[in-house]
Amino acid sequence: MTRPHFPHSFTQQPPIPDEAIAAAVDVMRSGRLHRYNIAPGEASETMELEREFALWQGARFCLAVASGGQAMQIALRAAGVGPGDAVLTNGFTLAPVPGAIAAVGGRSVLVEITEDLVIDLDDLARKARASGAHYLLLSHMRGHLCDMDRLVQLAADLNLTVIEDCAHTMGARWNGVLSGSFGLAGCFSTQTYKHINSGEGGLLTSDDAGFMARATILSGSYMLYDRHGAGPGLSSYEEIRLDVPNTSARMDNLRAALLRPQLRQLDGSIAAWNARHDLVARHLAQSGAIRLPKRPDAEHYVGSSIQFCVPGISAADAQVFVTRLGSVGVEVKWFGAAQPSGYTSDHHSWRYVAAQGLPKTDAILAGLFDMRLPLTFSLEDCALLAEHILDAVATLPATVQA
Ligand SMILES: *Cc1c(COP(=O)(O)O)cnc(C)c1O
Repeated sequence: MTRPHFPHSFTQQPPIPDEAIAAAVDVMRSGRLHRYNIAPGEASETMELEREFALWQGARFCLAVASGGQAMQIALRAAGVGPGDAVLTNGFTLAPVPGAIAAVGGRSVLVEITEDLVIDLDDLARKARASGAHYLLLSHMRGHLCDMDRLVQLAADLNLTVIEDCAHTMGARWNGVLSGSFGLAGCFSTQTYKHINSGEGGLLTSDDAGFMARATILSGSYMLYDRHGAGPGLSSYEEIRLDVPNTSARMDNLRAALLRPQLRQLDGSIAAWNARHDLVARHLAQSGAIRLPKRPDAEHYVGSSIQFCVPGISAADAQVFVTRLGSVGVEVKWFGAAQPSGYTSDHHSWRYVAAQGLPKTDAILAGLFDMRLPLTFSLEDCALLAEHILDAVATLPATVQA
């Protein structure tokens, strides 16, 4: 039996909701796109978004910025990272994470991952001690949360300040607690491929008033930090207002207007993603050659993409596997490729980071595949995708078939 070619684009997100389009049109008609351009008595869309996201996240403070990458850079700097400081981070993540550390002059210390794609907490402890690092930029890469109870305990024992990269975990929880709430700060992205879409954008949350005051001025507030929706009281700014540089990374009202209605729909989107993710996972679990990362009961993930491993697959076979799937319209990324491509690159191609041996991570990435699951795919589409993957796995040599 030949299956139909998969007809949909893996980069096609749903349209922006009508309500958000109407709000964006109102902003354009007003001409007041800049977040501090407020009519008397008005709260800007950006202020409202900050208020609503803080409430949604259960954080005291929220700062809207230009991107997730800027949220991380600002967070690192506001947390005190300076030139030459060691910052621990996952060896498997996306380039803007080591990029944010490089941008503030920090030195990335890369930590191994486990076969469940989360940071290896034993390696974290080892490297924290060996490097003397006081900071951890923890990337919940591809939506996988490590044992956050143990992480919090380790961070306390090792005196580590934790900043969470929640680009793939907006709405994900560990034992009911939202990701982004476990350390000093949570960094979120509202770039098109994340969980709410304003093209570009970022959100930074924290409960620490001093940190948030520094972050707000870094984001480019000038002396207008009173025009924030969920910022600290003005007294937090008194001593620092002339010391912290303005690095211009604000969000604008147009993007905020697009995001507010999407935030209201986020819980529904999460349920829709997880239905798709879990359906594909159930299908893939039928293959003895495929290993799915284990997801503990404590983890409530957002399945906006799916990862699976084919342990023991050779580089040549992985390439053929990806090409075969591509020929039937199924776009699967392979994290073991020697050359960076599209959005994916591994630590070997981050030349702005000192080269570090990560044998365990390399072995895992050699058999790791990834697929986006945009909400424009129906459940039937997802079933078709999964069957195509199972077909392609069945053509692999007997050595990888368990
Ligand atoms: C997308 C992404 C970021 C950065 O977000 P931008 O808004 O694109 O700057 C950070 N971390 C991870 C893991 C990401 O995928």
